[in-house]
Formats: sequence, C-alpha cells, structure tokens
Amino acid sequence: MSHVIPAPRAAVIPVRGEAADASFPVRRVYCVGRNYVEHAIEMGFTGREPPFFFLKPADNVLVVAEGETGRMHYPSLTKSLHHEVELVMAIGKGGRDIAAADAMDHVWGYGVGLDMTRRDLQGQMKKEGRPWEIGKSFEQSAPIGPLVSAANCSITPDTKIELKVNGEVRQSSVIGKLIWSMPEIIEHVSKAWTLEPGDLIFTGTPEGVAAVVAGDLLEASVDGVGSLRLQIVD
Ligand code: MN
Repeated sequence: MSHVIPAPRAAVIPVRGEAADASFPVRRVYCVGRNYVEHAIEMGFTGREPPFFFLKPADNVLVVAEGETGRMHYPSLTKSLHHEVELVMAIGKGGRDIAAADAMDHVWGYGVGLDMTRRDLQGQMKKEGRPWEIGKSFEQSAPIGPLVSAANCSITPDTKIELKVNGEVRQSSVIGKLIWSMPEIIEHVSKAWTLEPGDLIFTGTPEGVAAVVAGDLLEASVDGVGSLRLQIVD
C-alpha cells in the first residue's frame, strides 16, 4: 500500500549505555500536573489534590542528543514561556489497571525532560474553563535528553532534580518530594488509558518555574539519569 501523503515521522529518542544506534520510539506523551507540593502552592493550590493528567502529541518531542545543545524556537502567541524540569518515565511494557506494586516492571527507563508551557495562554484557558492544549501542546514543547534503562540507573528519594538558566539555579528538588510516586502515577494513568511500549510519562515539576527568553541557555539534570541542554532561539 502506498501513502497519499508523506508518512509522519515519529520521534525517536537515543538511548545511553546500549548499542550505539539503540533508540526508543515514542507513542504518546502523558504529563502529570502539580506533582510537587511547593509547585502546587506557587500555582495557587494546596498541593493535596488527586493526580490529574494531560497529553502532548508525540511530535511535540524535541530530541536532544548526548552532548548536544538543543534549539527551541520561541513559540508563537505567548509572552510567557515557562520551563518545567521533570523526570520522565519511558514505558517498555504496556498494560491497563496496573497495580502500583507491579508498576515499575512496566518502566523501561528514564530521561530528563522539560514540560515547556505557554503560561499566559494556559492561565487564560483555565480562567475561561477551556482546554489547556494551547498552553501545553505545541511544537517543541517537550524537549528530552537521551534515555537510560532502569537497569543502568538508580533513582532514590534523595535523587536531585535541577534546572539552571544561564548558569543560575532556578529549580532544585529531590524525587522523594513527588506527591504521587512513580508507581502511583502508573496506577492512575493506566486506569484511564491503556499504556503501551513507547509511552512517556512526565512526572511533574518542582517549584521555581519561571519565564525564559530567546538567548537563554537551559541546563536540566536528574542525578544518575542524565542531563539536557537547551538554547531558546528566535
Ligand atoms: Mn509539568
């Protein structure tokens, strides 16, 4: 069968510590909202609500290879492009109604991602009770660094997550401060959707979100998982 249009290209993320050309093809991108107490508070909430989720289209993923500096074009319509550094889980085994106790068997590995957000548009949509996509789901809105397999890294409650902008620390926390833990996130997501290999789950951002402008250099990291360098360009 021949396509009547060029086939869309799926995002494919390089993998560290495997064969040189090993990669992880992306199916869907799930994101958890307000999953660190201090961030929920800075957004005007108590930090104790049940988890909620949104998605980004897979083609919003901006792959940044090891040792490279990605280039994100400042997006249209916004005057307030915010950074949100997040630990990302990469699903290797699908399933639905996955119990938290079994959840980590479904995780292939991890990466460092940025949930880039047109905060002014998101705020406007929230106020009007409309969907958030225009604030969250747009081209290059999900930069991500190389993935590492769960076997090749260890994440503990003390694992540090950090974001620097132009060398200055803007966000700094530890994974133990997630309100909903990684197994709990998978339990909740898989009640609502059937997870499949290739799904990514952005686990939420700690406090310190703020705006960036063209020219800024972002350096995101999760200890033992990896890092991601991103330049904002016009
Ligand atoms: Mn986020």
